[in-house]
Amino acid sequence: MSARKAYSEVLSLMREHHKWFNRSIPLIASENIPSPAVREAIISDFGNRYAEGWPGERVYAGCVYIDQVEMICNELARKVFRAEFADCRATSGVVANLAIYAAFSSPGDWMMAASIPSGGHISHGKKEHAGTAGLVHGLNIEHYPFSKEEMTIDVDATKKKIEEMARDGRAPRMGMFGGSLFLFPHPVKELAGFMHDHGMYINYDGAHVAGLIAGGEFQDPLQEGADSMTMSSHKTLWGPQGGIIVSYEKHAEAIKKGIFPGNTSSHHLHHVAGKAIALAESLQFGKQYAKQVIKNAKALAEALAGYGFGVLGEKRGYTMSHQIAVDVTKFGDGGTIEKDLEKAGIILNRQLLPGDIKAGRHYMHPGGVRIGVPEVTRLGMKAGEMKDIAKFIKRVVVDKEDTKKVNKDVASFRKEFQKVQYAFDNAVGAYEYISLVSGGKRK
Ligand SMILES: *Cc1c(COP(=O)(O)O)cnc(C)c1O
Repeated sequence: MSARKAYSEVLSLMREHHKWFNRSIPLIASENIPSPAVREAIISDFGNRYAEGWPGERVYAGCVYIDQVEMICNELARKVFRAEFADCRATSGVVANLAIYAAFSSPGDWMMAASIPSGGHISHGKKEHAGTAGLVHGLNIEHYPFSKEEMTIDVDATKKKIEEMARDGRAPRMGMFGGSLFLFPHPVKELAGFMHDHGMYINYDGAHVAGLIAGGEFQDPLQEGADSMTMSSHKTLWGPQGGIIVSYEKHAEAIKKGIFPGNTSSHHLHHVAGKAIALAESLQFGKQYAKQVIKNAKALAEALAGYGFGVLGEKRGYTMSHQIAVDVTKFGDGGTIEKDLEKAGIILNRQLLPGDIKAGRHYMHPGGVRIGVPEVTRLGMKAGEMKDIAKFIKRVVVDKEDTKKVNKDVASFRKEFQKVQYAFDNAVGAYEYISLVSGGKRK
């Protein structure tokens, strides 16, 4: 491919992607759609600058405006998460976790975390699985005992395990809460005192649920006893891709070093500006949004259960978060169903469920799918639309209807939901493509 052809091809593929998302139903639980203001931040000149260090103590000149934005960002993060200290420089959720590992543990230490089928994230994982904690920081990982019935960590069994580990000379240094398949709060307040008494540092990974915590509609980890909370800024929190850490003043110096110079050089200043805008939006609209997200997740779960899907967590009302987990083994496997739904314009992801590994299922063809409603909620959808979405899913998965036909109906359903809601401004469409090379034309 010639240089000119490659250049045009990339620009054209991006436009096609926008068109595709504009007529699809985005249900990836870790994704959201940012406001036009956040998109404006992302294309600003901030993204071309360096500002190593802390505002006011930079290694580079040229940070007059950048410093002010970063201070606003930190102030908003402290306010939104009711925290003494915030550092908004992590370039992703994984980098935020790495900064915490670096600040509060040493290679060879033990950490308690959830396994992947129990909802844990690769960044909490063992070296054998190429997980970040093991592979990059040399931590040893022990998994929490997990209750599939309750879909959360088993408190009594965890206490027993920590005591056993201490007796074996493997006393854990760190407890990691939070996860990626995350339906119900983790028992932070039930375990924090016990863990602290055993000399453990507690981090809560709120990557998925940060927007719900911001809205005061999920557990409040810092108030429940966690020492810090790491998060992604782009999942239920609707910012640009990035990370944030909030904690107590007494941990500030260690965390700051863990971020810089520990794990960043450039900290992606355009994203810091975007995070500040997203946090301001969260302060204004976050509660109302979080309430609607949870309502929508429950409505979708109920509608799918009504069509015979095995929605997990039934005993506890399916979910208290933005996502649901669906056992699809009755209709096929998670991998194939993910592909079929994609053809129909319904975008979600396959998911390993508790028990899958034991049953011989694996990551490519697991027993489940995970469905998240943060993005469709931001587009203004309510419980009624969740019933429509459940029906589209049923037509593909249960009725095996022609995906082309369903795709057409999905596109027409989406026509009414073109703008980002819960934002100060939404003049530009949610997926509208602004072409800078053609002088700022909207497509
Ligand atoms: C998504 C996720 C992360 C990683 O965040 P990135 O911003 O993608 O680096 C970390 N922890 C959990 C629990 C996650 O779900």
